[in-house]
Amino acid sequence: MRHNKLGLNTICTHVGEVRDERYKGAVSPLYMSSSYAFEDVDAKRYPRYFNTPNQEGLGKKIAALEHTEAGLIFGSGMAAITTSLMAFLRAGDHIVLQQILYGGTYNLIVEEFEKFGIEYSFTEGWRPEDFEEKIRPNTKVLYIETPSNPLLTITDLEAIGKLGKKHGLISMIDNTFASPVNQNPIDFGIDIVIHSATKYMGGHSDILAGAVASNKENIAQIFALAKNFGGSLSDYTVWLLERSMKTMGIRVRTQNHNAQKMAEFLSANEDIAKVYYPGLPDHPGHEIAKSQMKGFGGMLSFELNEGLDASRFQKALQLIKPSMSLAGVESTVLSPALTSHALLGAEERERQGIRDGLIRFSVGIEEADDLIADIEQALHKVRNGAVVSTKS
Ligand SMILES: *Cc1c(COP(=O)(O)O)cnc(C)c1O
Repeated sequence: MRHNKLGLNTICTHVGEVRDERYKGAVSPLYMSSSYAFEDVDAKRYPRYFNTPNQEGLGKKIAALEHTEAGLIFGSGMAAITTSLMAFLRAGDHIVLQQILYGGTYNLIVEEFEKFGIEYSFTEGWRPEDFEEKIRPNTKVLYIETPSNPLLTITDLEAIGKLGKKHGLISMIDNTFASPVNQNPIDFGIDIVIHSATKYMGGHSDILAGAVASNKENIAQIFALAKNFGGSLSDYTVWLLERSMKTMGIRVRTQNHNAQKMAEFLSANEDIAKVYYPGLPDHPGHEIAKSQMKGFGGMLSFELNEGLDASRFQKALQLIKPSMSLAGVESTVLSPALTSHALLGAEERERQGIRDGLIRFSVGIEEADDLIADIEQALHKVRNGAVVSTKS
């Protein structure tokens, strides 16, 4: 069957399933074995070789979802990111990275790369020119994240893909925030797509995993390092992830819908100073997002008006929970300045435009009206609280 001809929810449900030939069960049997009979040198099966039946099956699903030839499943998003980067960089090489990145990726670069003799530059913005001006003769990789964390900035995929080709560089994207439901960067000329599968692919806040999708050649190059780095995912979790991904399409489309409603509600609310969501027409990346995304995603950020305490607001929420992570079926909020981006320091956060009161909102699949009611009651409490605190 031609996988690339199948629709999203069919791929989510079926591609890569391991057939239960013996008992004809409806779902993939779970192969927990870490020991397989030796067949030949090329066909040795071993979980750290990323080639057990469940690992291979899920790799096919990821590849089909991202319109690529091959996919690999990792033990975490960071294992996928680290292994992909190191597979294309060696001592003396240089990488150009987008200014605002997931905190863990930023830390990896600034804390570890010098040890390996790898040079790096962060861009000053998101335009293709901002990337091009940082390219040096020894640059090997362009690395982007769109929509970005936590301000949902949008980078032009096609422009970055072209820039990579023009300079003979490998382009990589962390596609976690969009998920394969909303964005397929390969179609715009990006070479390698990386995911923290902990987020929308897992979707239930109970799995840590990562994924990489690309052509066979790039995946072979990443695999060569991956089997030595050892960041594979155990089969029980692979199996759970396969189960979770069957509903990814319907989950994420509901999250898109809810996030759009939340963004519109928050924009119209007089207690809210600013909303960052690519689905809003006044978002600076809206037009590009429209041209490269199928949905605007379930993530948004916002700031309360001056004088309204963001931490108090988050504590006053009843349905929406505080959480360090994101993309679960349940709605969650987080303060980037206090958590994910605390390590950056106040000055760097200021430079990146991450205000102390910024709230990142991972919109879940609850009924949008219930989420709106929760925000309204929390704002009401904070408004009253704010009056009390100025008097005291
Ligand atoms: C969570 C996350 C990661 C890291 O993934 P882990 O599964 O926690 O290792 C990388 N990029 C983005 C955008 C993320 O949200």
